[in-house]
Amino acid sequence: MSPDQASAYLAEIAYLLRHQGDGHRARAFTRVASLLLRERPDLAALRSANALESLPGVGSGIARTLAELVDTGRSSYLERLRVDLNQAEHADSAPFEISPLVEMGYRGDLHAHTDWSDGGASVVDMARAAQARGYEYLAVTDHSPRITVVNGLGPERLAAQRRLIDQANEELTGITILQGIEVDINEDGSLDLPDEALAALDVVIASPHVKLRMEPAAMTERMLRAVDHPHVDVIGHPTGRRPGSRAGAQYDFEAVFRCAAERGVVMEIDCDPARMDLSPELARLAASAGCLFSLDSDAHAPDQLLYVDLGIWTARRAGVSQDRIINWLRLAELKEMWQ
Ligand SMILES: [Zn+2]
Ligand SMILES: [Zn+2]
Repeated sequence: MSPDQASAYLAEIAYLLRHQGDGHRARAFTRVASLLLRERPDLAALRSANALESLPGVGSGIARTLAELVDTGRSSYLERLRVDLNQAEHADSAPFEISPLVEMGYRGDLHAHTDWSDGGASVVDMARAAQARGYEYLAVTDHSPRITVVNGLGPERLAAQRRLIDQANEELTGITILQGIEVDINEDGSLDLPDEALAALDVVIASPHVKLRMEPAAMTERMLRAVDHPHVDVIGHPTGRRPGSRAGAQYDFEAVFRCAAERGVVMEIDCDPARMDLSPELARLAASAGCLFSLDSDAHAPDQLLYVDLGIWTARRAGVSQDRIINWLRLAELKEMWQ
């Protein structure tokens, strides 16, 4: 079993553990899933040397799962979790075989944070990490002002960040940094930045962050208004859920997805393991409504860019093919679409 395949199994186990409310164990599985993708250890060799536990973060439980995967290509633990969480109808479909997304044509991540808001790295460090992964572009999408705890950006700081990004794009070769924003969707569906500020950006992600427990009818109006906004390109983590701890907003998903498809507004599959939003179930509904998707990491640090590798199985399970995911577009195609 390749480290990529094993990583996909561990990522799905982590996903199901979160639904069970076991965030602690979920994080342990996510950490090892990330490690496998990053380091690509020879699992068969480690297994035969009885040395799986020498991998950082691998205790006896995860080692047992890995040993079974190497020996049989299956995980009875995953199969049991699927049954417990009524996901058994998927039991025949093995987790998506992860291969480096770039080899599959993934060209860039459209949702990442930097130290301009609550990210842990500079714009240039994030861009270099994206370049190291072979990307053609990376959108820097920090937060809007309303979220003061994360030092959200208003028009003035956005203009300053634009100057820095322009300069970085002159210095870097092989990667283009797009300037975007993750703008808050206010309770009434308006956005947390003036139109002029949004118009100057390369990509606008509008996300629900607060007041997620509004009445479904009011929430539907709120989301429809955001989708209808002329500057919105993507709806970020469309429910705001945190599996295992926060259910996320309830609204007339079909109506919102249909409106998004009509307007050409893209629905995000946010691959942060703590979010996985849209879920495979809602992504399937969005796909049948005709939506396009953006498969993003929502990275707050360089090594989190690989969340898209961990999350792509949701798209596969939702039946979303690559031609419906805009990260497969070349930069020129993307710009043309958003002209
Ligand atoms: Zn967000
Ligand atoms: Zn974000």
